[in-house]
This record gives sequence, structure tokens and C-alpha cells, in this order.
Amino acid sequence: MDLKDDISSLKGIGEKSAGLFHKVGVFSLMDLLRYYPSSYIRYPKIIKVKDARPEERVALELEVQSEASLRHVGGMSILSFTACDDTGLVSVTYFNSPYLKNAVKPGMKRVFFGSFGFKGQTARLSHPKMFKYEEYRELGNTLMPVYPLTKGLTARTVTKAVKAVFDAFGDLEDPLDEDVRNRLDLMSLRQSLYGMHFPVDEEGFIKARKRVVFDEFTDFLRSVRQLKEDNSKTSNHYVMIESAEAVRLTESLPFRLTGAQERAYRDIVSDLASPYAMNRLIEGDVGSGKTLVACLAMLTAVKNGYQAALMAPTEVLAGQHMAKLSELLKPYDVTCTLLTGAMSAKEKKQAREDIASGVSDIIIGTHALITDLVEYKNLALVITDEQHRFGVSQRKNLSDKAGGGMPHVLVMSATPIPRTLALILYGDLSITVIDEKPSKRLDIKNALVGPEYRKKAYEFIKKEVAAHHQAYVICPLVEPSEDESRAGENVEEYSKKLADMWKDDVRVGMLSGRMKSRDKNAVMERFASGDIDVLVSTTVVEVGVDVPNATVMMIENAERFGLAALHQLRGRIGRGNLQSYCIFVDTSGKKESSKRLEILKNTNDGFKIASKDLDIRGPGDIFGIRQSGELGFRVADIYTDAGILKMASEYVSSGDAGGEYDEAGEATIL
Ligand code: ADP
Ligand code: MG
Repeated sequence: MDLKDDISSLKGIGEKSAGLFHKVGVFSLMDLLRYYPSSYIRYPKIIKVKDARPEERVALELEVQSEASLRHVGGMSILSFTACDDTGLVSVTYFNSPYLKNAVKPGMKRVFFGSFGFKGQTARLSHPKMFKYEEYRELGNTLMPVYPLTKGLTARTVTKAVKAVFDAFGDLEDPLDEDVRNRLDLMSLRQSLYGMHFPVDEEGFIKARKRVVFDEFTDFLRSVRQLKEDNSKTSNHYVMIESAEAVRLTESLPFRLTGAQERAYRDIVSDLASPYAMNRLIEGDVGSGKTLVACLAMLTAVKNGYQAALMAPTEVLAGQHMAKLSELLKPYDVTCTLLTGAMSAKEKKQAREDIASGVSDIIIGTHALITDLVEYKNLALVITDEQHRFGVSQRKNLSDKAGGGMPHVLVMSATPIPRTLALILYGDLSITVIDEKPSKRLDIKNALVGPEYRKKAYEFIKKEVAAHHQAYVICPLVEPSEDESRAGENVEEYSKKLADMWKDDVRVGMLSGRMKSRDKNAVMERFASGDIDVLVSTTVVEVGVDVPNATVMMIENAERFGLAALHQLRGRIGRGNLQSYCIFVDTSGKKESSKRLEILKNTNDGFKIASKDLDIRGPGDIFGIRQSGELGFRVADIYTDAGILKMASEYVSSGDAGGEYDEAGEATIL
């Protein structure tokens, strides 16, 4: 057996389970070992009923008071009974678990772990896990892995399969020599992977994670080096001159370019004319106006007789870029073509034909743009928006599409990282920082509130809508969660709730990653054109979406998101000249959480947020909070793991890693 083998080669994994694993991106046995938990649960200390706070997940030691009663509502069975400790009474309910009726007896004492709340005056625990006292105490020190599952795939199946792989392989071949591991204080590959899935304690987990992060960074840095070497030899096959149309476009805008936009544009024009192909990163905080810079670059390419492509990480964003750019470029006789996975086969075929024949000047799309079926007539400029969502290899892939020679590459990112860090992560690119926002913008006003503030927030949103403005409400989940440990607000129920409450006064729409692309785009278009007042959405709107008339964003369960993600989300408002408001609803009731969110409340500056975040986030914070796939890393976080990044960077640059020595490797981070 080999780790590259398909998971169906594993005993106990049938065709059906294999299919489910494929759905979550696990194909080989190695994929399975790298299918890390997204978080870990630590069971809390047992507390008294009087100290339990609503919306918290608590452990209570209770004595059952009443016989369990069973009711049926719709297709669901509800079992309930009362239980108490010496400070209060709790009503406990279970759903679709009729078998518990005989197991629960008055006088029985158990530890109940679940989410606590009130219905009227009555304290309630809904669907808690039940343990004997000793059992619970044992659990106290362990970390329970929580896997990113899909319907039908249970945590048990994953755990069993992972265990089976470890059983089948005595040892895993380790690309890192033992003396290197000792020197850098890194676990062996096997130990680290095992420790990710079955951490004994926090300390063990942190060590296991360190090795995994190290590997992710070294892989990444190697490809950056590779790209750098490839690029430095590439001469400019598509020499361009500044176009009169681009100048005219800037003059026709209702506003002036900011100084930083002007500088970025100048850098690009000089790259396009230089002897070498452009490889530039434009880094600028959300709302700094990167799209316009991209637009000027593409117009320049088109007027020099070439095609340009713009790639976005989501269909929603691609659709929006298409609408905005077509509008902006209308007077300049430029044909824009959209190509995304959401389009019908017929539409895609037409788009591909136009791209190949040269009817299309500017091609806008998602990943579909890099799939092999697309042929360009004369692609000379490739722009990727929100680059941090693309891995290095994908970037390279697109560059290979041009055929006639390496095209110019421009990547745009809002990831706020310090310049020194950027030099390491984007070692292969020249960098322009857009460090200035359009001058007329008003600072977003922020509020950090608890759930009791919701009512006021709804009134506020209604008032803004009455003033013809729009709002986003962000929920972490799409639908009600069956998994108690991940309970939180969901888009489906929330949008219904708001629609019922506001009736005809407010038009509520909903958006989630689960919807068909076509429907997503339709909803986004209706929101952009003002036919929807309040959009209840998951974080699919996180990147790039631009509806300047939206002035309010209310983020539910804000404690669940990383600060970087929250900052990106908030970047959807405050994009026009209107005063905007962001309401962070913290339902955790925890001090640490509000301290973290305070940072967002106190500044709207992405760079400051990133560095402050680093100050207060110790390694302990890695439990549960995941950065949303920065640069394609699954575990590594460029901010909290800056130390490991430095180590990896030195290692890759040294003779150890098999590469030649590179002086730049000595760069210091942060
Ligand atoms: P991001 O950098 O986040 O991609 P966008 O390019 O989407 O930001 O721009 C945000 C908004 O700012 C857009 O509505 C755009 O029209 C507007 N904008 C861009 N440049 C300027 C400027 N120089 N002055 C005023 N508004 C601008
Ligand atoms: Mg953008």
C-alpha cells in the first residue's frame, strides 16, 4: 500500500464512503492524513445553573427531577424532562431521540454539556451531551477534533479511517532529516500528523502543528523561488505604450485618482514598456480603489492590440466586475466577455469562441479561465484580483496559457501584510502599495454589542432603508446546524425572521455559497441595483463586492470569525460618500472575545488590525479560529506563525533544503 493510493484501498471504506470523502477533497490516503480538524473542542469546567449565561455552551451537573415525556411535532419527536442542581431548575430537551425515554430516570445524576438558554423564565438546555461524572472529568483534558464534514460523512467515519491509515503504515517516510528536525525542534512527519488528529493535550498539539506549518511554508517558499527564477529570465514579448484612452478615462471620472492609484498606474505603464515581463503585486486595503487601476491596465493592453484577462476568486465578484467594467469601458469600444462555471454549456461555448477568435478584448472570470479548454488569441496581460485566494501554482498555470511568451502578470491583494513579510511571501513579484484611500470617504462607525442589542439594530437598519440605503446581515451558517458544538445564526432562518418582522417595509434577500451560481448572481444583481434592501448572507460577500449604497453591516456571531475576515467583510461598506455603520454582534459573552473584537471597533486600518491581532493572539487562539485560506495555506497563518515562516525561509534559502544559497533569505520578518 502506498500513501498515494485511493482511499477506497483502505479496509472499511466502501464506494459510498469513498464518494463522500471525494466530496470534501480527500482522494488519496495522504489527503486523508492531511484532512485536519477545523477546530477542537475543549470541554469546559462544570458550573452551577445560576452562573450559566444564555447562548453559552455549558457543562452542568444535574439531577433528573421528572419522568421524560415524549411529544411529536411535525415529523419530529421531542423528549423533555426537568433536572436541577442546588441553584436552579432546567428544562432539558432532546430531538428525535425517543430511545432516551427509558434511559432517563428521576434521581439520576449526570453532567449535561450543551447550549444554554431561556424560554420565557424557564432555563433550557437543548440536545446536550450526557456524561457520567467520572467520564466527564476524564474528558476534561483532551481536545476533541471537529472535522469540516459534509452530509453523510460523520466525525466517526473520519476518525476511524484516519486511525486505519496510521495502523497500516508503521512509519511515514520523512523528507526532513532527523538532525534537521532536532536542530529546528520539529516533530517527525508521522508524529505531527498523528498529533493533529489526536492531540493528547494543548502542548502536544502546538508542537504537531508547528511541523505542519513548517511544511506548508517550505512548500510555498520553494514554489515562490521557482517562479522567481523562471520570471527573472523572461523578456517582454508584449511591449506596450501608454494609451490615450486610458488618460481620457481618468479624466472622465467624477473623481480624481488618489496619489497612490496614480503611482500604481505609473508603475504598471513603465513595467509594460520595460524589457522584462511585468510581475507586480498591488497591495491596498479594502476600498482603496484597486479595480480602477486594473481597468486602466487592461484598457492599455487592449489599445495596444492585445487581450487581457481578469480572474476573481468568486462567481459573484466576477459577475460584478463584468458589470462595472463593461459600463466603465463603454465609450472606448472594448468588448468584455464573462466566463464562469455558472454559465450554460452553450454560453460557455460562445464565450470560448469569442476569446479564441479575438472578438473579446477583456475576459473576466473565475477559475474556469484557467481550465484547459480556453484558448486565447493574443493574451498579454493577466490580472488576478484578491490574489491571496489563489495558490502560487494556479497563478503559474494561467501564465502558461498565453502561448506566445510569458504574459504580463498583475496581482491585486487586500491582505494587509507588512512590507518585509510581503517580500518573503511574494519574493517573485515587484510590489506597489496603495496606502491611501479616496479622500471623501467618511470613517465607518463601529459598534460592538451583545445579542440583547439586536432589536435596536433592526430598528436602525429599518431607518437606514427608509432613507434609501441598504444593509448586509452576515451569519456564519447557511442552515440550522445539527452539530450542537457549532450552533450559530443561519442565513435561511434569519432571512425568514427579518422578512416576517419587516413585512412590506423592507425587501429582504438571501445569499449563500450553497446556492446555484446563477441564483447567487441574480440575487447579487438585485442587491446592486437596489431591488433588495437587506441582504442576509454568509461570508460569500467577503471578497471584493462593491455596492456603495450599502451603509450598514450587521455581523452575527462575530466571535466566530478571524479578524482578517471581519475586516474584509466590513470593507463591503463605507465605499461611497455616505456615513456607514458596522455592528458586530458578539454572542460569546467572553472577555477574550470582546477584547479581540475591540481592535476592529477601534480602527478601520487593515495594517493596524493585523499587527494588533498578532499582539493579543497567542498560540492558544489557534483553537477554533481559522484564517480563511490565506495564500492557500490550510493551517499556517502568516501573522501568528511569523516565527515559523522566518525559520522556513532561512531553511529553504540554506544549503539544507537542496537549493542554492540566497542572500535574500536573511530578511527579517515584522
Ligand atoms: P478595492 O480596492 O477594495 O478593490 P474598489 O476598486 O472596488 O476597491 O473601489 C471601491 C469604490 O471606490 C468603488 O465604488 C470605486 O468606484 C470607488 N473609487 C475608486 N477610486 C476612487 C477615487 N479615486 N475617488 C473616489 N472613489 C473611488
Ligand atoms: Mg476589489
